[in-house]
This record gives sequence, C-alpha cells and structure tokens, in this order.
Amino acid sequence: MAKKIDGKAFAQGLRERVGQAVAELQKSHGLVPGLAVVLVGEDPASQVYVRNKGKQTVEAGMRSIEHKLPDTTSEGELLALIDQLNADSDVHGILVQLPLPAQIDSHAVINAISPDKDVDGFHLVNVGRLSTGAPGLVPCTPFGCLMLLKDELGDLSGKNAVVVGRSNIVGKPMAALLLGESCTVTVAHSRTQDLPEVCRAADILVAAVGRAEMIPGDWVKPGAVVIDVGINRIDTEDGKTRLVGDVDYASAEAVAGAITPVPGGVGPMTIACLLRNTVQAACAANGIEFTLD
Ligand code: NDP
Repeated sequence: MAKKIDGKAFAQGLRERVGQAVAELQKSHGLVPGLAVVLVGEDPASQVYVRNKGKQTVEAGMRSIEHKLPDTTSEGELLALIDQLNADSDVHGILVQLPLPAQIDSHAVINAISPDKDVDGFHLVNVGRLSTGAPGLVPCTPFGCLMLLKDELGDLSGKNAVVVGRSNIVGKPMAALLLGESCTVTVAHSRTQDLPEVCRAADILVAAVGRAEMIPGDWVKPGAVVIDVGINRIDTEDGKTRLVGDVDYASAEAVAGAITPVPGGVGPMTIACLLRNTVQAACAANGIEFTLD
C-alpha cells in the first residue's frame, strides 16, 4: 500500500516557515512583504481562491491588497491598475486571478506585470528564466509538486518522470523543473500514443489533465511516486458532489510507492508557494538575501 503524501501538513509547515521569515524581515529591515490580488468579475471559484489567498497572506504576517473589479472592466482599465501596482513599492507580488472575462486578453495582462513582481511565474521573462535555468519566480502549483517530490525522494537525478498534461500553468513548468533536477522527462498530452505504456515507465508520474480518475492503477509502475494535480468535481450516488483527482486513487495506491490524495495533496501547496514567492520577490526588491528554502 502506497504512502499517502500529506500535502496539507507540508503546506502548513511551509506557511509557518514563511511566517518566521516575514517576522525576521520586519525585525531586521522593517520590511513587510505585500501581495496584491486582482479579481475581475464574480466567478464563484475565483472568489473562494482570492478569499483564501488574502486570509493566508495576512496569517503569514504579510500585507494583503485586494482589488475587486466588475466583469465589465476593460483591458485598458485593468492595465492601468497593473501599472499602478508595478509602481507601488509596498507591493512586492501581483497576482491576477484567472480566468479573465472575454473582453480582456490575459496574455497582455500577465505580461504587463513587472517580471520581478510576477509571483505566479507566468510572465514570459520568468518562463524564459525557468527554461534556461536562471533564477526567477516559478509557477506555484508545479513548484509545490517539486517540493513534495524532493521531500519524498531526495535526489531526483536520473529518475524517469512522466508529466501528463502540457498546459502553461502546470504541465510545461513542471517538466522544466524536473529537467532542472536532471530527471529524464516525458511530457504526454491528448495526442500521445499508448499513454498507459508511457505512464508505466514513470518513476515519477505527475497527472495534470483535468479528467476525473482517468489514470488507473495498472498504468502505474510498482513503487512509483504519483503526484495528482487534478481537481475534478463529480456527482455521487446520494445526489451530492465530491472532489477527485486525475488518478484513480483506490487502484493506484495499491501499486504506487507514494501518492498525493485529492483533496489534501497538491492543492494546499499552491497558496503556500505563492506566499513563499512573495517573500522571495520582497527580498529581491530590497537587495536582501533570500534564505527560505
Ligand atoms: P488544461 O486544461 O490547461 O490542460 C490539460 C492538459 O491535459 C492538456 O495539455 C491536454 O492535452 C491534456 N489532456 C487532456 N485530455 C487528455 C487525455 N485524454 N490524455 C492525455 N492528456 C490529456 O489544464 P490545467 O493544466 O490548467 O489543469 C489540469 C488539472 O489540474 C485540472 O484538474 C485543474 O483543476 C488542476 N489544477 C490544480 C491546481 C492546484 O492544485 N492548485 C492548480 C492548477 C490546476 P492537449 O494539450 O493535447 O489538449
């Protein structure tokens, strides 16, 4: 039976380390890291994420700045707000909650954020830094996955890693991070031929697809470490709903060496990494060495 990787506990530990780093920064430099979160529109899931981000930012001792704009906001108005936040020295991190309403080009908005305040790591400059191995801000969800993997396995060098999914926010940065750790990386997607066989070669299997329980246990190599990024809501027989991952947990835990559950695996790591990235950005903006990792 696989070990259950407790992402919730790991994320709590990371948030505590962030809180200690913030307290030290305030004491030694009078610096309070500030995170600005911009929400456009009324998407219910986005409202929950933004509320949680604000709450955890404050709990870590940082300044949370929230901008809630109506869904009729124009691209020009949003870009003007980004300019203002870029120029504000009390704001060290800027996050624009996605998705944005259809009238706004999300690429234009993301690339208007100063790369040094881009705590989501989506700006082209940070994408370039990650893919060339230069220091920068790394997307939070794959960064969280990497932390869990290193905690589980230590050195990842030489491992066969398969990432299922090639999105810009999870799959591609995950692959870049694993390559940076000297894994042999395969990126699979909807056109991959014989996906089961590809998955069976993985010492490290990362699923970031968005299809409920798509990966069964017989696609998993015995002893592999499985990281399930998927968050899918499914209907249950009693008329309720529940969250499941992209991996069929029940059959996979019988084969894997270790596996993240959904919920309670990768999910909690994302905001914890966002807080960590904000401290990194605040340190860099003030010429202070960043020592959290
Ligand atoms: P996207 O929809 O952007 O990407 C999905 C990827 O899966 C695509 O590359 C797609 O391939 C691939 N794919 C789709 N169907 C198949 C298939 N049948 N076989 C193989 N590959 C397939 O999703 P995201 O990357 O944004 O998110 C993935 C999942 O992770 C979602 O469930 C999302 O909710 C979750 N998530 C969780 C986060 C967290 O824990 N905090 C944060 C972000 C996402 P192709 O490119 O060929 O279309």
